[in-house]
Amino acid sequence: MLSIPDLIRKKRDGGRLTDEEVRFFINSVTTKKMQDSQIGAMLMAIWQQGMVAEETASLTREMMVSGEVMTWPDEWKRLMVDKHSTGGVGDKVSLVLAPALAACGCKVPMISGRGLAHTGGTLDKLESIPGFNVQQSAEQIQKILASVGCCIVGQTEKLVPADRVLYALRDATSTVDSLPLITGSIISKKGAESLSALVLDVKFGGAALYKDLQSAKLLAQNLVDAGNSLGIRTGAVLSRMDGVIGRCVGNSLEVIESLETLKGNGPDDLMELVTTLGGMLLVMTELAPSLSEGKRKINDAVIGGDALSKFEAMVEAQGSTNETARTLCSPGADYFSILRKSKHQLELTAPADGVVLGVDGLVLAQVLHKLGAGRSKAEELINHSVGAELLVSCGQRVQKGAIWLRLHYDDQAPSSVQLDLLQKALTVGEEHGNTLIAEVLLPPGDGKSN
Ligand code: URA
Repeated sequence: MLSIPDLIRKKRDGGRLTDEEVRFFINSVTTKKMQDSQIGAMLMAIWQQGMVAEETASLTREMMVSGEVMTWPDEWKRLMVDKHSTGGVGDKVSLVLAPALAACGCKVPMISGRGLAHTGGTLDKLESIPGFNVQQSAEQIQKILASVGCCIVGQTEKLVPADRVLYALRDATSTVDSLPLITGSIISKKGAESLSALVLDVKFGGAALYKDLQSAKLLAQNLVDAGNSLGIRTGAVLSRMDGVIGRCVGNSLEVIESLETLKGNGPDDLMELVTTLGGMLLVMTELAPSLSEGKRKINDAVIGGDALSKFEAMVEAQGSTNETARTLCSPGADYFSILRKSKHQLELTAPADGVVLGVDGLVLAQVLHKLGAGRSKAEELINHSVGAELLVSCGQRVQKGAIWLRLHYDDQAPSSVQLDLLQKALTVGEEHGNTLIAEVLLPPGDGKSN
């Protein structure tokens, strides 16, 4: 076996690491036999040289088994599903998708993250509900899955400890944006959930991590290959992320929009993502014979109210009171009797007549982030009530002076520069037309696209 410096040199010089060498690397990380400087050097060697599919697969597998791997009752094994999104603005898909999948018979141990940079995090959104506890042990997760069918939780301490070490050092060594390292990090955590099927929402566009379709597609293919190499049926959607998903951005406001969607009043783009991602998982778990049938089942679960009942049960199972869950999920709910409303609202108006061509989701998210909706460091507190409601949608004709955005803010008022940035985020003109989902990648054997 090579020494640690020899292993680093081999990768640095473009060598291909064997399964045994990757195992040695990850073991040395987890058992702290490797110094941070050595781990940093290896990360930089991987960043520079990349990894072939076999190396990425063994990196993913070794990271996955660096900690606890969840186990499920035999009768659930075919039904275990989850979804991962590379991050968007107003991305509340998980809040609707998890209960919709549970209503269709899946078991969904959804392990989500917090918001970082301009993108929001599912855990932050749910924590705007009083009492909602995202920290659940493996035993509690199993109990909630038995009674409800879905839960949305944070990563447990015992899951993929190697990722915790590598992720912190990637940040410190400018090696975050490496395809094999991103792939290993994302898929090892999904592998530790012992899933049967996984769907990835890989976003491209101005408000996404990857700005162009080609690079997003490369990431999607790496993620799909790594998932399938672990025996998880893995599919991906490449979806456009220039503006906002739905109409609301900000934690409490996105919970409200998710609840309205679960009550049958969801915006078309959100419903398209939920039904496509959910439909794919139903095909992959053989609960639907085709994508069109899968989409129909998910749509029925949302429109018919079964997904709302699952959401209500999940909120209560994860620590909120029965009264909180029931009030939020009742028809015509007074949401702000439960969720905190910001102290101030301010409306912006369209500068000219025309068709809404787009809203710059990145600018909107960056301003909201600065007003307290997001965090720049993991330990920072966020203000759940800060956000914005879009009052127009793409393709809609508006007149000069029409209100297009309602900003919700607290003690930190927007500056004139920020208001100017927000105003310029709206583009009004004379034509439009881009499809939301550019491509659907289903695993081999699940290739019926309608
Ligand atoms: N999410 C993760 O968990 N890891 C990455 O490297 C990127 C996104």
